[in-house]
Amino acid sequence: MADSLETLERQRAEILRQMQQLGDMRRGSVVEQYLRCGKSPCCCKRPGHPGHGPYFALTCKVAGKTKTRQLRAGPVLEKVRREVHAFHRFRELSERLIQINEEICEHRRVEEQVEKKTSWPRSGRRSNRKSKAS
Ligand SMILES: [Zn+2]
Repeated sequence: MADSLETLERQRAEILRQMQQLGDMRRGSVVEQYLRCGKSPCCCKRPGHPGHGPYFALTCKVAGKTKTRQLRAGPVLEKVRREVHAFHRFRELSERLIQINEEICEHRRVEEQVEKKTSWPRSGRRSNRKSKAS
């Protein structure tokens, strides 16, 4: 047995606590863009020129469609970056939360089997166990 049920439950509580502290979040990612303008002649038409920029945009795939919103560098961009970062962090945490929950599920099943074999009094053992609400 790698971790005790108690340890796993503590880890789960910790993840949930971190999730609560994430703050505002939004899907998508902030991308840097370099664009070619319509002016001619312009330096951006020269070969090897990366284009004007960087410009920033929030791209987000919703129902198969990619939405793009231009962002101005500055406080708005920083805010959106934080929100997007919070979402990525949320995804990481929820992935970990699922893993830990599955481990907890495995541990519980083993305990139940042991319980049946040794026929402990059910009432005593049940009440010792922490419920998920705690
Ligand atoms: Zn140009």
